[in-house]
Amino acid sequence: MSAALSRIFYTKPSIGEAEVAAVSAAARDGWGERCYESIQQFEALFRDFAGTKHAIATSSCTGALHMGLAALGIGPGDEVILADINWIASAAPIAYLGATPVFVDVLADSWCLDPAKVEAAITPRTKAIIAVHIYGNLCDMDALLRLGDDYNIPVIEDAAEAVGSRWLAPAGAARKGQHAGSRGLFGTFSFHGTKTLTTGEGGMLVTSDSDFYQKVLALSNHGRIAGESKQFWPGLIGFKYKMSNIQAALGCAQMARIDELIARKRQIFAYYHAALAGLPGVSMNPQPAGTENGYWMPTIVFAPELGVSREALLAACQAANIDGRVFFWPLSSLPMFTAEAANQTAYGLPARAFNLPSYHDLTEAEQDRVIAVVKAVMAAARP
Ligand SMILES: *Cc1c(COP(=O)(O)O)cnc(C)c1O
Repeated sequence: MSAALSRIFYTKPSIGEAEVAAVSAAARDGWGERCYESIQQFEALFRDFAGTKHAIATSSCTGALHMGLAALGIGPGDEVILADINWIASAAPIAYLGATPVFVDVLADSWCLDPAKVEAAITPRTKAIIAVHIYGNLCDMDALLRLGDDYNIPVIEDAAEAVGSRWLAPAGAARKGQHAGSRGLFGTFSFHGTKTLTTGEGGMLVTSDSDFYQKVLALSNHGRIAGESKQFWPGLIGFKYKMSNIQAALGCAQMARIDELIARKRQIFAYYHAALAGLPGVSMNPQPAGTENGYWMPTIVFAPELGVSREALLAACQAANIDGRVFFWPLSSLPMFTAEAANQTAYGLPARAFNLPSYHDLTEAEQDRVIAVVKAVMAAARP
């Protein structure tokens, strides 16, 4: 392998001249009476996109989750259920509130919450279930929402990785499809630079529950309750997780390209899928009938009998100047939690799973380089 091969990043945003112009305009003119203009525009664009009544822009998805859980009154002694395969950002806000994350096992095909395991983990202390649509893969929301109804527990969607993932409307149906994040009590999104749509750092909380929206809105305004006539008069301790108007201007310009950004993710996935998914023992992100996957992160899982290891693939990628990215570790295996070894699927997956590069401007020649490395590692591992 030649050292002259260009570096293939695993992710990188697509920022065009329109985005640069929008940010410049907001930096120049977005002050005084226009200081919230782009924020309000971005919120309106995003709630239309997600199909919810309300949206609140935030400085991060982590902040959006923190506020949403706080609005539910979650605190010490409470438990919140989420999948063991996750990024820490979905669990940290539970810990901020002094509550306990309960990590349950995932399904082998979607790598998302196993509803049967969720039901088994429910206790009188369970105050919420967080469904994270990992790598763009949709959780089984029908089953999770049914559990939420049966046990009277709010179901929340962390859709940070699921821009473009949705349930399609049946042919001829009157209602439109439903976007990830729009079905739970509230949904959260991330616009970190690695995500499908970016504002550099940023997030969004969406909900169609107007009472809940008012609660989060007050929290997001440092506890100032809507309708309060006294200036600088917070009625409770809130948060400061706001998005700046300049970031929101970037978000608006990205929203103008949202269909293109999602279509490109899907095209990149399709190219990998055509080359790799047919190989025996290889599986990739699923897309069940009646759904569309936004494919934020194309991911490959090798059956145990193939003998392919994460370490071998990581080393081969490094040698080929490809930014390799390992699958998430089980959160319960981290030092600050207690290992849940019974979560066999979550503990068995990461050693033989891998994320493939998928940024907007990735070329087919670069994808071919990635595919060649995967095939070479598979050939070398052949038992
Ligand atoms: C990226 C991500 C987050 C965190 O988003 P930030 O905007 O960085 O706070 C939360 N949950 C999931 C599933 C993510 O992928």
